[in-house]
Amino acid sequence: MSIRNRILLFAVLVTLLPSLGLGWVYFQQSEKTLLENTQQELKSTVSHVERELALWLKGRLYEIRVFSSSYLLSDELAEYYRSPPMEAESAEENKPDPVADMSSYLALVRKQYQLYQRLLVFDNEGALIAQDPADGQPVALPGDWLKQASARQRVIGDFQVDEASQDPVLLLGVPVSSGNDGALGILGAEVHTRSLIQMMQTALMAGEKEGSAEQLFLVDADGSVLLSTASGREFVPGSRLDLAKLSQVPGQLSAYVRDDGEPMVGTLTKVAGYPWFVLMEKRRAALFADIERMRNFTLLAVLGLVSVIGLLAYWLAWGIISPLRELTEAAGRVAEDDLEVQIPVRRKDELGLASWVFNDMVVQLQQSRERLELLTTIDCLTQLPNRKAIMEKFAAMLARYRRHGRAFSILLIDIDHFKKINDQHGHLAGDEVLRHVAAVLDEQVRQVDMMGRYGGEEFIALLDETTKKTALGVAERMCSAIAMSHVSYQGKLLKVTVSIGVAEIGGPEETQEQLIDRADKAMYMAKQRGRNRAVMAGEEPINSNIVPYPNRS
Ligand code: GH3
Ligand code: MG
Ligand code: MG
Repeated sequence: MSIRNRILLFAVLVTLLPSLGLGWVYFQQSEKTLLENTQQELKSTVSHVERELALWLKGRLYEIRVFSSSYLLSDELAEYYRSPPMEAESAEENKPDPVADMSSYLALVRKQYQLYQRLLVFDNEGALIAQDPADGQPVALPGDWLKQASARQRVIGDFQVDEASQDPVLLLGVPVSSGNDGALGILGAEVHTRSLIQMMQTALMAGEKEGSAEQLFLVDADGSVLLSTASGREFVPGSRLDLAKLSQVPGQLSAYVRDDGEPMVGTLTKVAGYPWFVLMEKRRAALFADIERMRNFTLLAVLGLVSVIGLLAYWLAWGIISPLRELTEAAGRVAEDDLEVQIPVRRKDELGLASWVFNDMVVQLQQSRERLELLTTIDCLTQLPNRKAIMEKFAAMLARYRRHGRAFSILLIDIDHFKKINDQHGHLAGDEVLRHVAAVLDEQVRQVDMMGRYGGEEFIALLDETTKKTALGVAERMCSAIAMSHVSYQGKLLKVTVSIGVAEIGGPEETQEQLIDRADKAMYMAKQRGRNRAVMAGEEPINSNIVPYPNRS
C-alpha cells in the first residue's frame, strides 16, 4: 500500500471510528431514553383512561341502581309475578297493568336522563317484559347475566351500534329486588358511550402532538374492538386486534407489527373489575422520526467530515509524496549520469532539508567528477596537459580544420641527451629538468595553443591558426629559451637543449598519425643536424645514410 493510501486510510479511520462509535452510543442511549419516556407516557395515558372509564361505569351503575331502587318498580314487578299479563281482549277495564306502569316509570326516568337511550325491565329468567321506548332493535342480556348479577350485583352487556342514531351504546343492568322477595328481575339500560370516546380522545390529545400517530382502544379479552379513537371507526363491530402480540404485563411497552404491516409500539392494561382492556398504540416511525432525523444528520455530518479530512489527508500526503517523487526522479537522473539536476527547495521541514542535502550532494559529486576529470587530463610531473588531453584537443582542431579550413601546426619537442642527465645526476634531477623544460616551453605558447607532455622527455605543442612558417619561428624561440635557461639542482647548474620537429596540417585527408609522423621525422632531422634546433617537415635530409631514429610507440 502506498504512503498516500496509508495516510488516507488512517485519516478516514481516525474520523470514522470515533464519530460512528460515539454516534452509536448516543443513539443507543437516545433510543433507550425514548422508549422509556414513551412507555411512561403511554402507561400514564392508559391508566388515566382506565380510571376514567371505571369511574364512568361506576357512575352509570350507580344511577341505574338508583332507578332500580324505586318501590314503584319493585312493586310493579312483584305485581307482575302475581298476575301475569292477560290477552288484550280478556283484560278487565280496571285491572292494574304492571307492564304499562313499569314502562311509564322508565319513560319518566329517561326524560330526565338523556344519556340513557333505552331502559328495559327483564324478569328473573332474563326475558324482556317492559321497555322504553317501546320500539327499536331487540335487546338481550348477555349469556352470563345470572352469574354476574349474583356475584357482583350488576350485569355488563355488549357494546352495540344503535341502528337509529349510529351511536355506540352499552347495555348495563342491575338486579331489582324488594326486601321480602329477593331478586325480582333486572333493570337494563342502554347507555350512550360517545362521551367515553371523547374522553379517550381528550386523553390522547393531552399527551400527543401529532394526533394520528397514536390510538386508544377499548377491547375485550378476545381483542374485539369495543371503542376506539380512530376517527371514522370509533366503533366498528367485528374488528379485532391481535392481543397476543402485546405484553400482558400492565404498562409494559411492546413492539409489534400491525396487521397492515406498520411497526407499532403499545401497552395493554386491564380495566379493573371489567372484562375489558385499554390498549394504546403508537406508530414506531412517528416515535423514531426525531432520532432518525438526528441519525441522518449525523451520518451526513460524518460524511462531510470524512470528505474534508480525506481532502486534508490527500493534501498532506501530496505534500510528502511529491517531494519524494521529485527526489526519486532526480536520483534516477543522477544514476543515469546527469549531474546537472537540482530540485527546488520549497519547504523548510525535513523534506525540504532532504532536498537541500540532495542538491548539495549532487554539487559535490559534480565537483569531484570535475577534479577527477582534471586528474585524468593533467600530467602530474609537469602539470601540463597529458597525452590524452593533447590528443582530444588535436582531434577537435582537426575537425574544425576540416569544416572551416582553419589550418594549424604542431611542434614535437624532444630533450637532447636526456638519458645523460638521469645517468649523471639521478632520476630526481631528470624530473626536475622535465618540470623546468615544461614550464619554459609553456611560456612560449599563446592561450589558444596547447603545450602538453607527449611521453617521457617528449612534448607536443598545438598551435592554433598557425602556419608552418610562424610555427618554425615559435620553435626556434623555444630552442633558444631552453638553451639559455638552466636548472639548479643540489648546487649544480644543469643545462639542456631541445630538438623540435615542425609540421603544418597538410590537407583534409591527413590524419593525426600522419601529421605526428611528419613532425617526428622533422624532429629526427633536427637530431641529425646536431640537435638544439628546429626543422620543418618536408626538408630534404642532409645525406641518405642516416641512421633511422628509433620509432616510438
Ligand atoms: P636523444 O638526444 O637522442 O633524444 O637522447 P636521449 O638520451 O634524450 O634519448 P633516449 O630515448 O635514449 O633517452 C630518454 C630517457 O629519458 C630515457 C628515460 O629513462 C628518460 N626518461 C623518460 N621519462 C622520464 C621521466 O619521467 N623522468 C626521468 N628522470 N627520466 C625519464
Ligand atoms: Mg626521446
Ligand atoms: Mg631525447
